[in-house]
Amino acid sequence: MNASMNYLDGNAAAGELSRIFAVDITSAEGQCANCGAKRRFAEAHLYSHCPGLVARCALCGHVLLRLVNVRQRVLLDLSGITHLTFETAWE
Ligand SMILES: [Zn+2]
Repeated sequence: MNASMNYLDGNAAAGELSRIFAVDITSAEGQCANCGAKRRFAEAHLYSHCPGLVARCALCGHVLLRLVNVRQRVLLDLSGITHLTFETAWE
């Protein structure tokens, strides 16, 4: 790391992110970026008859998640969720 840099590139997060994305996101609690509702992701309204998946807030209908498969890539947009909280067995 360069002494003038106080950050790492995104690869440095691989270990931590692999722990998070190894768990079932549907059991996580998320907060809607629009109305602030905190609910389990499993309670969202999921629309799968589009090119991918769209999950909407059960209260206000705001888009929480979009997941689109394009060839060998997956686009995951979580901008409709301010944060997710996971139950884990980690210490
Ligand atoms: Zn909402």
